[in-house]
Amino acid sequence: MDLKFGYFTDPTQRVASYDPDVQGDCAFCGKPITEENLRTISIMRDARGSYFYRVHRSCHISSSEPQRLAVDNNFWVLIDFHEKAGTVQLNA
Ligand SMILES: [Zn+2]
Repeated sequence: MDLKFGYFTDPTQRVASYDPDVQGDCAFCGKPITEENLRTISIMRDARGSYFYRVHRSCHISSSEPQRLAVDNNFWVLIDFHEKAGTVQLNA
């Protein structure tokens, strides 16, 4: 499994159930994310858990609110797909 997002399956969890680390490309600019230019964005599903993804700090800082929402929405589409496919399962 090589997901572009990570997730916690319990609100009290300290260590993610899945963490994509810094591999992958920034959802804003499409270029590889580096340790030096990194920001983790958390998006709450509900009481079952939450998801997160990583982007460039510089891209996030310079983005507008509509751009940030559009990136969030792209991840929700991806997350919905994986939840329906059963590759990601939050605690019920
Ligand atoms: Zn970027």
